[in-house]
Amino acid sequence: MLYQRSSALFKEAEKVIPGGVNSPVRAFNAVGGTPVFVKEAKGAYLFDEDQNKLIDYIASWGPMILGHAFDPVVEAIINKAKQGTSFGMPTEIETKIAELTIKMVPNIDKIRFVNSGTEACMSAVRLARGYTKKEKIIKFAGCYHGHSDSFLIQAGSGAVTFGTPNSPGVTQGTAKDTLLAKFNDLESVKALINANKDEIACIIIEPVAGNMGCILPQNNFLHELRTLCDANNILLVFDEVMTGFRLAKGGVQELYNIKADIVCFGKVIGGGLPVGAFAAKNEIMNYLAPNGPVYQAGTLSGNPLAMAAGYAMLSELDANPEIYTELEQKTEYLHKGLSKVLNKHNVEHTINRIGSMISVHFAKDSVIDFDTAAKGNNQTFKDFFHGMLDQGIYIAPSAFESWFLNNALSYKDLDETISACDHHFSKK
Ligand code: PMP
Repeated sequence: MLYQRSSALFKEAEKVIPGGVNSPVRAFNAVGGTPVFVKEAKGAYLFDEDQNKLIDYIASWGPMILGHAFDPVVEAIINKAKQGTSFGMPTEIETKIAELTIKMVPNIDKIRFVNSGTEACMSAVRLARGYTKKEKIIKFAGCYHGHSDSFLIQAGSGAVTFGTPNSPGVTQGTAKDTLLAKFNDLESVKALINANKDEIACIIIEPVAGNMGCILPQNNFLHELRTLCDANNILLVFDEVMTGFRLAKGGVQELYNIKADIVCFGKVIGGGLPVGAFAAKNEIMNYLAPNGPVYQAGTLSGNPLAMAAGYAMLSELDANPEIYTELEQKTEYLHKGLSKVLNKHNVEHTINRIGSMISVHFAKDSVIDFDTAAKGNNQTFKDFFHGMLDQGIYIAPSAFESWFLNNALSYKDLDETISACDHHFSKK
């Protein structure tokens, strides 16, 4: 495939945008080459500036669970835009989407909308601190909760891909309040709690991690965390920015039958427009301004276009729960197909999967935390990434990202993807 126009556009972009991209995960620094510039997308396919057609496994990093330019979402945006794009005053659609999310997600009474997943997690932690009157938080190595200062401590996603899991610019004062535990390692959490008695406001976790590849909680880990939180007056914050409305209507709380104290959303909830949200029971949410003392605000929060897009997306998911079964079946099919081919070619690998999230780690042992994810063979991944791209399959340009399936993918697309993998490793 040729990427002449993408290369030319990238050169222009680099002159005026740092690294030529507005979010580092879009860059190809980790895999080499120049990023693909997309022109348009429909359903499961991206069409780039060089007229290549690519089967998309990123889905805008999660939001496009029903495929690109999904008609009801597009129509909702167009219709709303004609009535004005922002007012800074309350609108009915905000209440409608709030009611719908509260219906779909267990264990929440109120929800506040913001503009990104970062804002959602940042605000959730402030709320947890204000509510508990404690300052420290526990996060897990390899989890990513957005680029707010407190989270850029051993962060996953682009932060680890580009070698800056601890970002310069985060003050020592901030960093010391973020304590670091190991995913799936309860003892590491207990040790932190014991060493910081009565100082921890919350534990924030991706309940299914997606920012060090896809990693599932093992052995009742989430329930054990719940018990620890209850025993120590610590709030449990689920960052469901990736998993919310993707793994189930009610996210991981529903899937694993577990209650979090505060839940953060992003991605799917905005239908592809910039939306985040955080939600909890009344007792906690009433601590927020203007009712309570914890301040949080946004000029464009609850923006009518974003709310209309999110409402159209969630309505579709709410009305058609079979979407989740279909997605799971497609992901299982892909998993089996890729495993078969990788085994045939004797490629060491571990595939982690749940619902419509899947990741291929080129490591032979189970991948259960950041350390085991980091053992993956980088060179094999780089070659695989380019081998797939050359055959029109677009996966994330980093081994530390999950793939996201969208329901517009057909079994023919999945077969093509499996054959592309076979073909790539046949050449080795
Ligand atoms: N939390 C998680 C689990 C995420 O995956 C992300 C983004 N990938 C964020 C938070 C931050 O969201 P945003 O990029 O919308 O700020």
